[in-house]
Amino acid sequence: MSRNLVIVGGGAGGASVAAEARRRDPSLSVIMIEQGKYVSTAA
Ligand SMILES: Cc1cc2nc3c(=O)[nH]c(=O)nc-3n(C[C@H](O)[C@H](O)[C@H](O)COP(=O)(O)OP(=O)(O)OC[C@H]3O[C@@H](n4cnc5c(N)ncnc54)[C@H](O)[C@@H]3O)c2cc1C
Repeated sequence: MSRNLVIVGGGAGGASVAAEARRRDPSLSVIMIEQGKYVSTAA
């Protein structure tokens, strides 16, 4: 069964969590919700 991860906030913190979670579980489905126009490019 595939797992889903929902991250609220597309800043450096959210993007870092998304990247690390996918490294640990490549089959993970990640959804990032950002209220602003842009997400971070830092991660
Ligand atoms: C003026 C300034 C200059 C800086 N310069 C540097 C620098 O040169 N180098 C450096 O390393 N760091 C710098 N920093 C620090 C760096 O910006 C922060 O450490 C970093 O952005 C923190 O990331 P974060 O993901 O924790 O928070 P944030 O960057 O604040 O990201 C949180 C995100 O969550 C979103 N969000 C919040 N609530 C919701 C919601 N309910 N639904 C959807 N989205 C939501 C926000 O829109 C935001 O995009 C600077 C900070 C400031 C203020």
